[in-house]
Amino acid sequence: MHYQSENGKVYPVHREQLINDQTGPLNLVGSAGFDPALIRKELPGLWRYLPFLPIEEPYLKTLGEGMTPLLEMDLDGYPVQVKLEHLAPSGSYKDRGSAVLLAWCRQLGVPEVVQDSSGNAGASVAAYAALHNIQCTILVPESTASAKLKQMEAYGAKVLRIPGTREDTARAALQYASHTYYASHCYHPLFFEGTKTFAFEIAEQNHWDIPDTLILPAGNGTLLIGAYLGFKILFEQGITSFIPRMVAVQTAMCAPLQAAWRSLPFVLQEGVSLAEGIAIAEPVRLRQMLNIVQETGGMVLAVDEESIADSRTYIASKGHYIEPTSAAVIAGARNYLKQQLTPGEKVLTLFSGHGLKSK
Ligand SMILES: *Cc1c(COP(=O)(O)O)cnc(C)c1O
Repeated sequence: MHYQSENGKVYPVHREQLINDQTGPLNLVGSAGFDPALIRKELPGLWRYLPFLPIEEPYLKTLGEGMTPLLEMDLDGYPVQVKLEHLAPSGSYKDRGSAVLLAWCRQLGVPEVVQDSSGNAGASVAAYAALHNIQCTILVPESTASAKLKQMEAYGAKVLRIPGTREDTARAALQYASHTYYASHCYHPLFFEGTKTFAFEIAEQNHWDIPDTLILPAGNGTLLIGAYLGFKILFEQGITSFIPRMVAVQTAMCAPLQAAWRSLPFVLQEGVSLAEGIAIAEPVRLRQMLNIVQETGGMVLAVDEESIADSRTYIASKGHYIEPTSAAVIAGARNYLKQQLTPGEKVLTLFSGHGLKSK
C-alpha cells in the first residue's frame, strides 16, 4: 500500500510530512476490495466495513458515524431516495472521512494535525481529533459562520482565522503543513477511504440493487470522489453490474467544475453564496471530479441562490432541517428530476449537512 500523486510519483504511507506545495492531492494505491460475506455486522456504523479499510481493529473508535437512514421521499411528486447524512455526529457526512482519517493518524502515531476548512470539515476533523486525543489546529477563512467555529473550539481545537479568500486559507494551511501533519479532506487519501463507505451503505441498504443516478454536491468533491471509488470497487468485484451516473451540483456563483465540463472559461461571480460549503473556486481535485462525471455519463448542474433558499424552505416544510449548502444539492436534485428523469430511473441524493449550526 502506498500513496501516489497525480503525476504518478509514489510516497510511503509512513511519511512524516505528508504534503507540501509540490505534492498535490494524493491517492491510495493497494487498498482492499469488497466482499459482502466479510462485512463485520457486529461493529458499529460504518465500521462494519473494517475489512475493506486500512485501519487495524485496535484503532477503531466511534462517535456513531455511518449507517445513516435511507428514506424513500418524494420531491415535487418524483420518487427519490435520500440518505440522511446530516444526522452524522458532527452534523455532516464529513464524519465518514474524518473517522477513518483520524483513526489512521492515531495508528501512525501522529500527535498533532492541521486542517483548513470553511466549516463542516473543520468541525468534523476537530471532533475525531478529540476522540483520538490528537492535538488539532483548524485554519478558517475569517468569514466562516460562527456556530461552526464555536463547535470546533468546543471540541478543543485551536482555531486560526485567516484573512482573505478560501484559497488564502488553503495556502496558509499548506505552509503550516510543512511542520505539522496535514489532515486535509482535500489532499489526504484516507479521507476518501472513509467517504467510500457511503457507496457501500447505499448498495447494502438497497440489497445490492443500486440506484441508476446519484445527485451529489461538488465543492472539493470529497463525497463525489469517495462514492465513485466505492461503487467502482463494487463493480470491479462483480457485486454490481454498473457504476451509477454521477450528477454533480454546484452553486452558480462558483461553478468551476461546470465550466470545465462545458469547456468554458470559469467566471467567479461576486458576493457570497448561501451554499458556502460548495463555493470552492480552486478545487485541487477538479480533474478527478471531471473524469468521474464524464466516465459515468453524468452531468454538472449549477443552481441559483433563489432555488437554494426555496429548497431549504421546501425541505423544512417536510420536517427536515438542513443547511443552505445541503439545500443546494436538493435544488439540483429537483431540477434533475423535473428535466432529466427517464422512466424507471432510480435516483438517490442526500441531506449533506444539518441546519442547526447555520444561519
Ligand atoms: C463539505 C460539504 C459539502 C460539499 O462537499 P465537497 O467535498 O466540498 O464536495 C456539501 N454539503 C455539506 C453540508 C458539506 O459540509
